[in-house]
Amino acid sequence: MTFQSPDADLAYLDYNATAPARPEALQAALAAMSTVGNASSTHRSGRGAADRVDLARRQVADLLNCSHGEIIFTSGATEANNLALRAAFTAGGRLVTSAAEHPAVLEVAKAITTERPEALVVLPVDADGLVDLNALHAALATGNVGIVSLMAANNETGVLMDLVPIVKAAHEAGALVHTDATQLVGRLPIDLEETDVDLLSLSAHKFGGPQGVGALFVRRGAALPYRPLLFGGGQERGWRAGTLNVAGIAGAGAAAAAARLGMATEVPRITQLRDSLEKALVEQIGDCRVNGAVDQRLPGVTSITFRRAPADAVLASMPDVAASEGSACSSGAPTPSHVLLAMGRSREEADCTVRFSLGYATTAKDVDQAVASTVRAVHHVRGTLASAS
Ligand code: PMP
Repeated sequence: MTFQSPDADLAYLDYNATAPARPEALQAALAAMSTVGNASSTHRSGRGAADRVDLARRQVADLLNCSHGEIIFTSGATEANNLALRAAFTAGGRLVTSAAEHPAVLEVAKAITTERPEALVVLPVDADGLVDLNALHAALATGNVGIVSLMAANNETGVLMDLVPIVKAAHEAGALVHTDATQLVGRLPIDLEETDVDLLSLSAHKFGGPQGVGALFVRRGAALPYRPLLFGGGQERGWRAGTLNVAGIAGAGAAAAAARLGMATEVPRITQLRDSLEKALVEQIGDCRVNGAVDQRLPGVTSITFRRAPADAVLASMPDVAASEGSACSSGAPTPSHVLLAMGRSREEADCTVRFSLGYATTAKDVDQAVASTVRAVHHVRGTLASAS
């Protein structure tokens, strides 16, 4: 079984919104759904379902180099972030995060600190989208930090966080560390033996698994009172009650295994495709700017500001390309990207920014098509605006 693009003429460059399902994920999900069994039942059918979940847990753990007992399946990274931050904040102390986080961290952080707004510290980022480490050290130095939550890779710019020194500094100050690694997992290697975070969130659909499945890694022995969002049958060691989504979890596990296997060849191939897309657009369009630390990004992401060409008009002029304005989660909303504003971009620059995100199934043909259509669209929008003024 292979992924069927609903539209073969579409250059799909929106992997940060969601990736096409990997054939291995489709097969595993279908096989699981084709048999009956509740993973909590003790009879043979139930054990069959439990075996599929167990395999998937090991596959996800292998991708992260952690123990399968440290993986809690959830409905996605949003739920994993909610669980992680609520549990860690309950343990006490202040919550430190950054202005460039996804709303699935920032909104949770705001919600759980409404009674104690002084307990929330939001670190600034610089013009490259990197967290100001001096501000982190200053926050840690004032003491009473319970949890530091910083994303591993930014969804809008692809900028990568250097987590190892952050974890070291936070641990020395007695704080736990959570990372929202939704955009990193399955795209670049991460080794949880080296990167000593206490909590990590992921979402399967970003690396070719099904939507609506994710996981929270909780390091064994982390000093953390668990605070379930869902109470019920006590599944997932009490962290997440409810009958397990066996088909979705099986798909997530198979996608994790395929991503792990393909990574060594996918990373250089996707990097090269992204670089050629970026180079062609910058050279052929002119008056544009690539956002984020260019040498410290995910392989498949480029965020480009095409000055004097609002992104909504550009995207509407190229229906044969799937790309995003800022982030998919906020598109349609009238507010500009909070990530670009935090990096010091003007509102106008943020409004003129398009994110292209490539992945394991992107081809050179997709890139050629995206270049031709984007060049045409930006020139068209600029021309229309110039003649109207
Ligand atoms: N964090 C980041 C960085 C993301 O990019 C996303 C998805 N856009 C999420 C969290 C939320 O993931 P999900 O919608 O799968 O729960």
